[in-house]
Amino acid sequence: MMGTTTNIVGAALPALPGVSPESLSAWFVERGEPAFRAKQILDWVWKKKATSFDEMTNLPAPLREKLAVSFRLTALTHAKTQGSEDTTRKFLFRLHDGRYIESVLIPANPALYGEKSDRRTLCVSSQVGCAYGCKFCASGLAGYTRNLDASEIAGQVLAAEQISGERVDNLVFMGMGEPMANFKSLMEAIALITGPETLHLGARHLTISTSGLAPQIRKLADHPQQIRLAISFHGATDEVRDRIMPVNKKYPVAELMDALAHWNSTKKQKLTLEYILIKGVNDELAQAAILARHARSIGAKVNLIPYNTVEGLEWERPAISHCRAFQDVLKKAGVTATLRIEKGHDIDAACGQLRLKQETAEGIV
Ligand code: SF4
Repeated sequence: MMGTTTNIVGAALPALPGVSPESLSAWFVERGEPAFRAKQILDWVWKKKATSFDEMTNLPAPLREKLAVSFRLTALTHAKTQGSEDTTRKFLFRLHDGRYIESVLIPANPALYGEKSDRRTLCVSSQVGCAYGCKFCASGLAGYTRNLDASEIAGQVLAAEQISGERVDNLVFMGMGEPMANFKSLMEAIALITGPETLHLGARHLTISTSGLAPQIRKLADHPQQIRLAISFHGATDEVRDRIMPVNKKYPVAELMDALAHWNSTKKQKLTLEYILIKGVNDELAQAAILARHARSIGAKVNLIPYNTVEGLEWERPAISHCRAFQDVLKKAGVTATLRIEKGHDIDAACGQLRLKQETAEGIV
């Protein structure tokens, strides 16, 4: 299923999905307008999901004109929807500078965190490309271009709801980019996503995934909101992790585990260790035994994901029977371990693949 839309966003005016309620109130006050105008705009942007300033009929026309020359209504242009048979949909968005990002809407989520649920989860991008260069990842292939700003992060949720006509219940920051490397914009976006006047999604429904930036893990652990955390672990020892995740040279396993122990002592939510199983790289059963020890020490659950083939990369998916044997080692050690058979396997669901194809086709990368 493919669809395109042609709504064009303007150049670099501030985009309303990135403007905080406080800044918006200040903007109106500076112009001698009553403060309740900010509430009206927030309703149009976040609740009614307006697609043009003309829709905002409870605002005087001259004020609508003033808004239209001061702000963009959206941060993203919907370029393409790609969907698979089980209705997982990937949205490709064009940014004001011609770059692309993607978000994936996953309708039911029985395997992701072991919870049986019919909730809709959106997988959100945080950067254009990624500087962390994990060897198995499409996003790392083309390198890092730039951080997304808060409007481009929060705007993905708004746009996904606009396009699908459905409410997003859960967010996972597992799309393109390392969210913890864009900490400031990430936290600004989260304030907008969780704010009562904006999207008002509970912090417990948000999961940040990181490749292991220990200082930011500690910072997030000390943040008052009960945001969830998932670690892209993918190797139980420095030897294996060094081979596939360059971030491990900076924050080796022991340092990462220290930061996770701090998280575990501060937060109520169970940590999740994500582990992509790659044939002959990290799938030895001895790794499973060490992984089980790590998981037990911080009360974490483990989410096993058989590797999704990425064009241009050499790695392979192990046999499912071997994945089950790996899972059994964890279970026998008393660790909750799920084996996730990727829903989006047929739509380039590994982060960054659709965007990479589009940018390659346009000669951007
Ligand atoms: S797995 Fe995550 S951190 Fe690693 S290169 Fe890909 S996007 Fe970056």
